[in-house]
Parts: sequence; C-alpha cells; structure tokens
Amino acid sequence: MSDSATQQRSVQQDIANRRTFAIISHPDAGKTTITEKLILLGQLIQVAGTVKGKKHDKSATSDWMSLEKERGISVTSSVMQFPYKGRTVNLLDTPGHEDFSEDTYRTLTAVDSALMVIDGAKGVEDRTIKLMNVCRLRDTPIIGFVNKMDRDIRDPIELLDEIEEVLGIAAAPINWPVGMGSEFKGVYNLYTDTIHVFKPGKGSVVAEDIRIDGLDSDEAKALLGDEYDDFIDEIELVKGASHEFSLEDYLAGQQTPVFFGTALANFGVREMLDDFVEWAPPPLNRETEQRVVDAKEEAFSGFVFKIQANMDPRHRDRIAFMRICSGTYRKGMKMRHVRLGKDVKIADAVSFLAGDRELVEEAVSGDIIGLHNHGTIQIGDTFTEGEEFRFTGIPHFAPELFRRIRLKDPMKSKALQKGLQQLSEEGSTQVFMPQNNSDLIVGAVGVLQFDVVAYRLKDEYKVDAIYEPVNVYTARWVSCDDPKAFEQFKRKCADNLAIDGGGYLTYLAPTRVNLSLTEERHPEVVFRSTREH
Ligand code: GDP
Repeated sequence: MSDSATQQRSVQQDIANRRTFAIISHPDAGKTTITEKLILLGQLIQVAGTVKGKKHDKSATSDWMSLEKERGISVTSSVMQFPYKGRTVNLLDTPGHEDFSEDTYRTLTAVDSALMVIDGAKGVEDRTIKLMNVCRLRDTPIIGFVNKMDRDIRDPIELLDEIEEVLGIAAAPINWPVGMGSEFKGVYNLYTDTIHVFKPGKGSVVAEDIRIDGLDSDEAKALLGDEYDDFIDEIELVKGASHEFSLEDYLAGQQTPVFFGTALANFGVREMLDDFVEWAPPPLNRETEQRVVDAKEEAFSGFVFKIQANMDPRHRDRIAFMRICSGTYRKGMKMRHVRLGKDVKIADAVSFLAGDRELVEEAVSGDIIGLHNHGTIQIGDTFTEGEEFRFTGIPHFAPELFRRIRLKDPMKSKALQKGLQQLSEEGSTQVFMPQNNSDLIVGAVGVLQFDVVAYRLKDEYKVDAIYEPVNVYTARWVSCDDPKAFEQFKRKCADNLAIDGGGYLTYLAPTRVNLSLTEERHPEVVFRSTREH
C-alpha cells in the first residue's frame, strides 16, 4: 500500500473513532458535575474556553467575563477533547444560563449525539424539553442519565414514563437502581446481568469497579438482603413493561437508552460512558444546500457554529468555533470561505490546552477548531477545500425580547453601529433596523443578553448606550415566491418592516394578534421564526 493510502486509512480510522456530543439538561441537574467526572475518566487532554467552576484558571478569561463572574454564571461554550477506550471524545459544553439558549441551540447543530442529564428528584424539566425539541429537528441520538441516585428520588418507573410522555421518545432502561438515597446500593445491568456495587464517598477519584455477576448469585442475595425478592419482582416488571434497547432506534433518535447513577459520587458515569463510546454515532453526514457531505470524504469542509469574543485578554480578537464535517485540517492549508468566495490560508487554527492556546497541527471530521476572526466570519459560514456548497441547519431564532438602543453621546453612532454589527455576527444579540425610522432595535432570547451587550459596547467599543422599551412582541423573517404579492405586503406593512444584522427582511409584530392577522391577510408570504445563514 502506498504511503498516502496508508495515511488515508488512518484518517478514516480517526474519523470513525470520533464521538462528538453535548450535554442537555435543566440547570442544576448535574451537567457540570458529570462533565468533571467524564474528564476524570478520560484524563482530559484539551480544554477550549473555560470550564465553569475553574475559578483559579485566570489565563483564558476575558475582560467582559468579569460580568459572568459577578453574576456567578457561565456564558462560555467550551470544547473538551479526551480519549476513552480507543475513541476520541469531543464534548461541547453549552452555556448553563437560559438567557444564552440560542448559543446552546446552535451548539447542538455541531454535535452528532447528546447526553441528557435528568435530576431524578425533579424529573423532566423545562429546559430539557426545549433542548430535546431542538435535537428532534435533526433526530439527534440521545442517551439518558438519571442523576442523584444518592438522594431520595422519584419512582424510577414513573420517571421513565415521564420521559416517554413528556419528551415523546421511547425509553429503554439499560440498568436499574438498587435502592436509592441512603439505601442506594448500586445499579443492575439488565443486559449483562451484573450488579455494579455503589460505595459512597468516592467522588473525586475514579472508583474501583466492584461487580457482582448474576442476580441469582449468593453475593447478590447478600447485598440485597430482605429486599431481594422485591427486587427480583421489580426487575421482572421493568423487563416486561419497558422497551428493549435497540441500537437502530437509538441511532434514529427514536429511543433513548437510560442509565441511573450519581454524578457527584462518580457512580454509574463510567458504565454509561462505556456504552456511549460503543453506541454513539461517529461523525455523521451533513446536509448542504447543494448535496450531502459524507464525513469520510477526503476533502476538508466545516461550518462555524459559534463566535466568541476576547477569550484571552492577551489576544484581543474573536474566535470562530468550527465543526469539521469532512476531511482533515492541516496547519497552513488553504480554505475557501464560501460566502465571501475567497480563498484563505489558515495556519493558526487553535485548540486550547489547559487554558493556553495551542496551534492545531491536524484535526479531522468531528473535531472542533478555533479560527481567528477579524470580522470576516459569521455564524453559519461554510469553509471548504474549494467546492461551492453551504451547510444548512445553523439557525438564528426569533428573539423574544426587544429594546430600542440609544446613545448617550450622539457622536458615537458609528461606533455603536459597528459594535452592534459585530455582536450580532457573533450571535450575542440580534439587531433590527426599521425601514421607516432611524431606530436601532436589539433583540434577545433572554434578558441577561441586554446587559452583556451594554457591557461589551462600553468595554470594547467605548460606547455608552441606554435601552428604552419598544413596542415589539416578536420578529418573523419574511419571504415570498410571488414578487407582486410581496411588493404589496411590503407597501402595506412598511411601518413594521426592518432589516436584521444579516441583511434579511423581518416583520416586527407589536402583538401576537397583529402577527396572526398579518399572516392571515398575506397568505402568500412566509413568516419564519428561525432563519439560516
Ligand atoms: P448544572 O447546573 O447542571 O451544571 O449542575 P451542577 O453540576 O452544578 O450541579 C448542581 C448541584 O447538584 C450541585 O450542588 C451539585 O453538587 C449537585 N449534584 C450534582 N450531581 C449530584 C448527585 O449525583 N447527587 C447529589 N446529591 N447532588 C448532586
């Protein structure tokens, strides 16, 4: 075999071994805790961005992140890579605060599967439902982890029912808890007939793996004591009443295998991870406007799903996070920036090792790399090795909150425009410029976004801006196949039309009723609550 053929085969192997995923959960369910345990299990090799809670790590925090610290929140997506059992796992962290859900949604477009963490005492909560709906758009395969078994949680059978009913996905328990709270003794794997025995107080180290083979063994009887017969009955019931695990259904996003454990005590996480790396899909093929791109194609391609400003005060720039969708990034390679129709040589893509930036020599399909962005890269941008195609499915969501933004010093209007333009390209906020007046309207998904925007305008663009209420209920991106009908619509609704930061026409509705009436009156016009590119 020739050298290049050998090399190509090993790249194929690298790609097949990639597992790129994100965690979806409601705040406080245990995402940060489980992330720490996963890293511990995988002996972290790379950290991009900052991990929440690592307060001592100052090197990768930027000025405006002091705002995050003040509020005790993390708005920073991070990317972590670690090896596990011959696989390379890429974990994309998502901002925990609900105000940054747009970023979270877009991060979900860059993964191939997800891990859903549920607080066993609380069951399926709000944010999980929302994030699950985003996963469903692409049938993302999801593994479930019911956390906090060391507490008195709800009846596990009830929890499975809730997952099925509320999330509309079949649930297949892989293991079953033996007791809970102070009586938690471990988990019984329904498929291997093995009990993993729980020993409390081992959270900070990888616990010894104590197993009992066979539920009908003497050790199992000794462990369960008086509850043995009840547990046998419970297992019979669970096996009879729940779905059997099907790899095919999991990969199709129709069934979620469910594990029980406690992230805090680092128990059950390893059992989940062992199966995760086996079952979770390698980099998936991706849709573009032109054709489907196979993750194993030799030619490089990728898209930008997130832009983050000033990750490091020593480097006053912005980093564009790119998901590689095919081929290999090699340092110094030439890439085509498809939207601009320009070829760019990239020799300084980065990953982050223990808080410091590292130049990436090579990265393959499924990996995330950071590109330096000097204002030319936007969320959703596609990069290729020359071919003209654009990845689809990287959404902007219609904001739910709106404010008019006004300058304290009218001389700074250029700086304000520039700042807002850049912040909207990053996806930190959305800007709307009404057609019939000179207002600037800022839209957000969560109210905290407004504070971040004002803070950054001041900090980075030296602009003092104030917000005023504005009578906008929601925005819809509008388009129409019939030019005549569209012209008529534009004339009739001129006072409600605005151009957004990406140059797209939007309808700003003052009320819900106004929106439905306008939709009724203009049936030819399409009103979208999300837009791509
Ligand atoms: P996040 O908001 O989803 O990232 O949640 P965290 O990981 O920060 O956890 C929220 C709280 O739940 C913290 O106080 C954790 O210590 C606690 N916690 C996480 N996992 C467990 C668990 O397995 N058992 C118990 N008892 N507490 C847990």
